[in-house]
Amino acid sequence: MAYDTAEDAADSDAAPFWRTKSLEEMDSSEWESLCDGCGRCCLVKLQDEDTDAIAYTDIGCKLLDEDGCRCRDYPNRQAQVPDCVRLTPEAVRSLSWLPPSCGYRLVAEGRDLYWWHPLVSGDAETVHAAGVSVRGRVPVLEDELPLEDYLDHMVRWPVRLPRGAMRKARR
Ligand code: SF4
Ligand code: SF4
Repeated sequence: MAYDTAEDAADSDAAPFWRTKSLEEMDSSEWESLCDGCGRCCLVKLQDEDTDAIAYTDIGCKLLDEDGCRCRDYPNRQAQVPDCVRLTPEAVRSLSWLPPSCGYRLVAEGRDLYWWHPLVSGDAETVHAAGVSVRGRVPVLEDELPLEDYLDHMVRWPVRLPRGAMRKARR
């Protein structure tokens, strides 16, 4: 079921599943649909050896489709990218680097999905229109760049919400 806005969803007689179920209670289809398709978690992250702090880069995982913002081989991703993190309810609650816009993180924190989430808008393009996805912001993939150049690609935008993402959808 899709709604024009999160408010509409709230007003609906049947509250949407992400407001009524815990992450553990969701079935596989509901679980997968919580992903908004932003692609932010598929950016390469760097960990400081001394502090363990994690920083995002704008370098894409080698399997990231930079335009579609999806994995190009999702079913077999872990065979090709062994350190690809498989999200589970437990992982969602413990990973500090999940973007603040991430549908899993929002629900885990007891918050609602934003207007641009495809489950709310009914349109897979709104995550791009809101400037939340990585579309147009990934200049290079990890296998196209020498390791010594990674530091030059550190960015902070993946841990921020763009201004346009906060407003409600208007029709
Ligand atoms: S950050 Fe969250 S919502 Fe975005 S692609 Fe990753 S899992 Fe999906
Ligand atoms: S393997 Fe696929 S899902 Fe995993 S980080 Fe890379 S692009 Fe994303």
